[in-house]
Amino acid sequence: MILQVKDLIVNYGVINAVKGVNFNINEGEIVSLIGANGAGKTTILKTISGLLKPKSGKIIYEGKAIQQQKAPKLVKAGISQVPEGRHIFSGLSVMENLQMGAFLIKDHQKIKQNFSEVFERFPILKQRARQDAATLSGGEQQMLAMGRALMANPKLILLDEPSMGLAPIFINEIFDIIKEINKHGTTVLLIEQNAKKALSISDRGYVLSTGKVQLSGSGTDLLANKEVQKAYLGG
Ligand code: ATP
Repeated sequence: MILQVKDLIVNYGVINAVKGVNFNINEGEIVSLIGANGAGKTTILKTISGLLKPKSGKIIYEGKAIQQQKAPKLVKAGISQVPEGRHIFSGLSVMENLQMGAFLIKDHQKIKQNFSEVFERFPILKQRARQDAATLSGGEQQMLAMGRALMANPKLILLDEPSMGLAPIFINEIFDIIKEINKHGTTVLLIEQNAKKALSISDRGYVLSTGKVQLSGSGTDLLANKEVQKAYLGG
């Protein structure tokens, strides 16, 4: 098991956003968290990546409790997050954005190798390497945000709404890329509004509702589940 979340409680002041959540991810899996707006998905992701501290509960990564560790240390340990809304650095080139993802790597040879792997996976980023990142389309910016996370050599990648706001053609491409990244050995935790697509590429999924896990199962089982269909798959 690469990640275990145990009895996780996360608050924003008096607001209890995550109310005792348990789930786990095995090495090599794609696991999805689905649920309505405000269910607590982003809060869970930010807590795993060290951007938020839980009120209580544990996050065990590769056998060690990490819930008190800071984000840079977790990036170094192999956890990279691709935030909702991409947050690329405009005013910087595509190349410079990617470079930022490798800020903790000292070995120049390794950085070079990561660049060539990212450019191989996302040829469009190579074509646009010297362009200001702000001039990229939404889908290309999502690829850049994913490429930036991959520059850190993650073992576990946390993807927050990667298909949000994208044209249908890009949505399919992004899901294909997620499968590819996973095939090459990176474990994936995926948050998506597009539950149908997310579950169809996931080994397993957890359905969250108002800060709690309501249901869990294999991607196939959740897709076939009547409750899930009614609430999240449009009938
Ligand atoms: P979305 O898909 O809309 O991002 P989500 O499932 O990711 O939803 P969260 O963003 O984790 O949900 O929010 C969980 C709860 O915490 C919601 O009730 C939300 O209003 C609240 N919340 C989120 N961020 C903050 C914040 N910075 N301050 C106060 N409350 C917050």
